[in-house]
Amino acid sequence: MSFSSLGLSEQLVRATTDQGYDTPSPIQLQAIPAVLSGKDVMAAAQTGTGKTAGFTLPLLQRLAENPRTGKGPRALILTPTRELAAQVHDSVNLYSRYVPTKAAVVFGGVKINPQMMKLRKGVDVLVATPGRLMDLYQQNAVRFNEVEILVLDEADRMLDMGFIRDIRKILALLPAKRQNLLFSATFSSEIRTLAEGLLNNPVQVEVAARNTAAENIKQSVYPVDQSQKTALLSKLVRDNSWDQVLVFTRTKHGANRLTQKLEKDGITAAAIHGNKSQGARTRALADFKAGEVRVLVATDIAARGLDIKQLPQVVNFELPNVPEDYVHRIGRTGRAGESGHALSLVSADEGKMLAGIERLIKKQLPRKSMEGFEPTNNLPLKPKAKADPSKARGRSSNGSGNGRPAGKPRSFGAKPGGRSAGRGQSSGQQGRRQSA
Ligand code: AMP
Repeated sequence: MSFSSLGLSEQLVRATTDQGYDTPSPIQLQAIPAVLSGKDVMAAAQTGTGKTAGFTLPLLQRLAENPRTGKGPRALILTPTRELAAQVHDSVNLYSRYVPTKAAVVFGGVKINPQMMKLRKGVDVLVATPGRLMDLYQQNAVRFNEVEILVLDEADRMLDMGFIRDIRKILALLPAKRQNLLFSATFSSEIRTLAEGLLNNPVQVEVAARNTAAENIKQSVYPVDQSQKTALLSKLVRDNSWDQVLVFTRTKHGANRLTQKLEKDGITAAAIHGNKSQGARTRALADFKAGEVRVLVATDIAARGLDIKQLPQVVNFELPNVPEDYVHRIGRTGRAGESGHALSLVSADEGKMLAGIERLIKKQLPRKSMEGFEPTNNLPLKPKAKADPSKARGRSSNGSGNGRPAGKPRSFGAKPGGRSAGRGQSSGQQGRRQSA
């Protein structure tokens, strides 16, 4: 199946070919025709599935069918984080290079005036985070009367981050006649309530459950004392000559502390979390992508949606509070057919969390040890890997391993199908509200 056989115009197909994509991913196979048909769409899809192109390509085609008459925007894409907004905007620019569509992005943490100027010039596609969009609306810098298509990207994370009130305010301002696309990794009751009020007889789209034990992500655990974690991480970075490793910590403070210690140890590192200015976050990500920073230390929310191509290595410096976040984290590696490694440094006090993760992914992670770093307090060696079917159905089964063979570049192998969107569950919502 090719992009052109899905009904996309030659200009849009050329833009995908420029990116090196020859085959549509499973989510694209389903979402592109659905969006082109003009219907509302409810899609269960995570970052890493190719979802951005899944809604952007058909959206661009629908807009290209008629020219803009006013200042726009004609399509509004809402995302939870600034980084994701910037990435989606980059994708829109890439895919729209051969069509006369103008895109802009607005998010908080940076000056509002340049964003106002851009909007004044007119825009077809506006990518925005909800808070800044409301600010711009209240300052009369944007109007919504021309919006034909609304996309809520990573809707579950938007709700987790407390954007529901802004979203509802924005929805109330949009023209009643419009196409709505809702993308979410999970379908909690909160998301379903939102979807019921928003979507009109939606086409449901979902890719087959992605196996968290994907063969192309090698996962392992280093039992180690908390006090030894930084030294062990430094050693692993050096011994393995890792040039690009994403490290997760539970807290912003922990991310800062670890970054400083690594820097002191002569390993270039940068932290990315919600307390950093937008400039600092963008810079850290750019330096990391450019290979100027070896270690990017991130909290869960800040890392959500980061599209860093072919990330070979992810390290959990601390395990996440919510087992499902483990699946999100390791999904940063082994993407788009590449192989990856996910390592967790686990201290004895995290034994329960590890057991929760292993229950969720229905697999015991292999333990490794490093000479000189053996823990004084041991982890239980064989936690009961009791399957818990109620948990295994939610976030996890929609998780981030992608089941593609290693070394098969730029193509998606999984088959579409599986459960219908909306039946997934969201477990562990409370724990997700950690600050980024
Ligand atoms: P997303 O889920 O939108 O964050 O996309 C994940 C990654 O897959 C991005 O790096 C995209 O550039 C890439 N991608 C999107 N569509 C395809 C495709 N059809 N074939 C190969 N890679 C793709």
